[in-house]
Amino acid sequence: MTGWVTVAGLGPGAEALVTPEVTAALAEATDVVGYIPYVARIAPRAGLSLHPSDNRVELDRAELALRLAGQGRRVVIVSSGDPGVFAMASALFEGLEARPEYHATDIRILPGITAMLAAAARAGAPLGHDFCAINLSDNLKPFSEVERRLRHAARGGFAMAFYNPRSKSRPHQFTRVLEILREECEPARLILFARAVSTPDEALQTVTLAEATPEMADMRTVVIVGNEATRRIGRWLYTPRSVVETVPE
Ligand code: SAH
Repeated sequence: MTGWVTVAGLGPGAEALVTPEVTAALAEATDVVGYIPYVARIAPRAGLSLHPSDNRVELDRAELALRLAGQGRRVVIVSSGDPGVFAMASALFEGLEARPEYHATDIRILPGITAMLAAAARAGAPLGHDFCAINLSDNLKPFSEVERRLRHAARGGFAMAFYNPRSKSRPHQFTRVLEILREECEPARLILFARAVSTPDEALQTVTLAEATPEMADMRTVVIVGNEATRRIGRWLYTPRSVVETVPE
């Protein structure tokens, strides 16, 4: 039996948002590798070994998956949302880059619904024009780089989605993010705090930049900052598909 590694996105939480191709890969798997809460979403069954691991050991996980596949096992590495968005797909290739003996491994990446798209759909269409996604964690890049990209994105007129906005170990950083937004954007700019989208704990809140406070975000929240034209219609939040020409500075 030839082994393989599939990196699969489980979507934001709801079972209905797991794609059929991910469900099929899990049904064929002999091993599931991933961060503890994501592996916990996989139903145990005979013949399936679960390998949950703690956060921040992505390269160990990649190595384990490649080793198991080399032994003929069918391995699914699970990520939440989409595996290519601040998740395990890049980590697998980083691990692969360092290990030429695994370069012939049969690898597939299966997309999933990423948090910002699930959140945007719940709220309306806040990402309906040009947007960018920024990981606010300074785990893999210096916070000065987060600040620089944030400022450029705001000046560039992009709507923005923030992943990993605020953790207990770095609460002050999201305070700084709001400060920078206040320097670059008008006080009426709309911000969506979308927590635990598609799970029983789901909570959505839209406020203006003037009203936003750091406590509105935690690690289960994706934050969407609209562009200048983003507006409300009743309970909906949307960004028009067109934009007027920016006057050069
Ligand atoms: N690969 C994932 C992102 C992993 S980073 C994806 O594509 O969605 C983890 C961050 O994703 C969290 O800190 C949070 O900002 C966001 N996130 C993941 N699931 C979420 C959900 N159900 N609701 C809101 N945000 C979520």
